[in-house]
Amino acid sequence: MHKTILVPIDVAHIEKAEAMVNIARSQAGEDGQIKLLNVVEEVPNWVSATIPANILSDFEHSAREQLTAIAGSAGENTTIEVRSGHPYQTILQVAEEFSADLIIIASHKPGMQDYFLGSTAAKVVRHAKCSVLVER
Ligand code: ADP
Repeated sequence: MHKTILVPIDVAHIEKAEAMVNIARSQAGEDGQIKLLNVVEEVPNWVSATIPANILSDFEHSAREQLTAIAGSAGENTTIEVRSGHPYQTILQVAEEFSADLIIIASHKPGMQDYFLGSTAAKVVRHAKCSVLVER
């Protein structure tokens, strides 16, 4: 059983979330904490100059709402975190910050079954300092 489980969720593929949260529940000890994380990807300055100023804060707001809805049905001891940055670096950073002892990540986006691991998942598996469970 695990004490602190980090579940990174790509809100563009929210359909994976339920299965991941169910696994997290099954892996959490009695007082185990589950943290749902979405990373809103930063865009280069030259791109941000060409998009409406509030678009990134809108993405963050929407991600927060979606994670809150999932957390509501995930039961007690489930919290959410929305950060901006590079997905894999931020996932690893948050895992260390909260002393996660398990990361549960989806293998790739739906429809990419030919790939063993997506780019974010592969880097998290390679560089995480704790156990990583890959949901296929
Ligand atoms: P692909 O390369 O097929 O898009 P990824 O490796 O990016 O696959 O995504 C696999 C999983 O990595 C996602 O289902 C999610 O668990 C995690 N992930 C990817 N991007 C993000 C993100 N921006 N925020 C949180 N988790 C993410």
